[in-house]
Amino acid sequence: MINDTIAAIATGITNSGISIIRISGEESFSIIERIFKKGKNGCNGFINVSETESHTVHYGQIVDGDSVVDEVMVLIFKAPASYTRENVVEIDCHGGVVVTKRVLETVFKAGARIAEPGEFTKRAFLNGRIDLSQAEAVINLINAKNKMAMNNSIKQLNGIELNKISEIRDSILHDTAFIEAALDDPEHIEIDGFAEELRVNVLESVKKLDIMIKSADNGRLINEGISTVIVGKPNAGKSTLLNAILGEERAIVTDIEGTTRDTLEETVTFDGVTLNIIDTAGIRQTSDVIEQIGVERALKAVDTADLVLYVVDSSRNLDDNDRKIIEKVKGRRVIVLINKTDLGSDFDDRIFKDNNMQVLSISAKKGFGMETLSETIKDMFFAGDLMPNDEVYITSMRHKECLIEARNSLNQVIDSIDAGMTEDFFTIDLMNAYSSLGLIIGEETDEDLINKIFKDFCMGK
Ligand code: GDP
Repeated sequence: MINDTIAAIATGITNSGISIIRISGEESFSIIERIFKKGKNGCNGFINVSETESHTVHYGQIVDGDSVVDEVMVLIFKAPASYTRENVVEIDCHGGVVVTKRVLETVFKAGARIAEPGEFTKRAFLNGRIDLSQAEAVINLINAKNKMAMNNSIKQLNGIELNKISEIRDSILHDTAFIEAALDDPEHIEIDGFAEELRVNVLESVKKLDIMIKSADNGRLINEGISTVIVGKPNAGKSTLLNAILGEERAIVTDIEGTTRDTLEETVTFDGVTLNIIDTAGIRQTSDVIEQIGVERALKAVDTADLVLYVVDSSRNLDDNDRKIIEKVKGRRVIVLINKTDLGSDFDDRIFKDNNMQVLSISAKKGFGMETLSETIKDMFFAGDLMPNDEVYITSMRHKECLIEARNSLNQVIDSIDAGMTEDFFTIDLMNAYSSLGLIIGEETDEDLINKIFKDFCMGK
């Protein structure tokens, strides 16, 4: 039942300045009329919402029978001009955990039920204020780990992805409608030659889909972070580098070879980019069993990482272990960090350049070269992140899959045209593409999927 009235604490459950309790649904106003008295000490009596303007703030007390629960501010939002498009009340109460829960209990006692996670946003979707991709943008915005992810979510929330999808769907629908009409009424609508025009339109849509699908790779990296593995021989300075990136002494740094025995994982925002860094044991031939496990993990981590940072000690000569690492990492996205350049040794980095690896000189200990490193990472993954304002990275796997399905269907249309099939063949694939795109914005989505998406939200959102 969508019309029942829900309530939840919308702020974090910890002691803070204020907490916000949100109520949405048909009974919101009658509930607040029973528990909120306006004015100092509630001297003006219970609020009458029908005499109250929308988008107004009121000072007073929440009461439970004769007892005063808290001194609060109440905000009134009349449907449809609210987050959910329903009647919404927000209560700003004192931010103590006990008092906040007590206010919420009073709201429940007056007739609301506890909201499920994401239920407010789900109502905004079900009531047509936002589409499914925008609802997902809300959760992405809340969970954004860095500025790039945040900016991208805002664009998605503003409907940039929705507009792109709608544009392609409109074009598909237009062409399908034309074919259907022409087949129904061949005397008046001329379909000869239309296949050529359709081919141009469909290719245009495929091109747009390609761009969106391609952006999904970066979208994942922006949202979830770049999985980064630091490799190099023992004592090359891997832990020191990790500390320099983290900006604090997290990994243990020592002079004894093989101290970083196991893998360590840290998530860090490095100059606006999220890196999920796996620091590994130094790669070398070893007989120490525990260290051996670490080395194997290091080599394994290279296989699944998005980025390899290969630390080389410039004060020592390269040996067979280095050649082994080079073999392992070449062809991947790798940055070779020639470390300890503060020691001023002469170092020949030709072997890396010959293998098309990007090489930077750094001193992890002194923090030299860290800015160049972050710039290089950004260039490597986001081409400097000059994403225009009307473009958006696709960050959801679900969306990516739907886009790929839509593209496959449209490619089928091209194949049918090229094979000289009749027009009625085209419409099936056109409509399949239309439906796949509809799934993204929630027009063709079944309830299970909707519930699954909203389950990931936090309480009160
Ligand atoms: P790991 O085994 O690769 O993790 O190496 P560590 O980070 O533990 O560093 C090994 C040794 O090299 C430590 O004594 C560090 O202080 C030293 N070291 C690391 N980076 C630098 C650097 O840039 N310059 C100098 N001079 N020493 C460094």
